[in-house]
Amino acid sequence: MGCEDVRRVIYFFLDGSLNDAKLREISRHLDDCPDCGMRARIQKRLRQFIRRRLTPVAAPERFKVRLSRSLRALSYEL
Ligand SMILES: [Zn+2]
Repeated sequence: MGCEDVRRVIYFFLDGSLNDAKLREISRHLDDCPDCGMRARIQKRLRQFIRRRLTPVAAPERFKVRLSRSLRALSYEL
């Protein structure tokens, strides 16, 4: 797995929506690659920052279904 692949899925990695094998693969890459490791830390902090400031809004059920379907399709492609 190269840097490009890792950067493409870093959001899903932080989100915990990848399977275990992918998670391990990416964790290993982040440990070995300072550049991607740094990006991951920045993304993580950004997510925490946004979460703290946003008020949760209930998404319409149809949207949730469509979103989880797209995410699942995406993680199969990886
Ligand atoms: Zn890398």
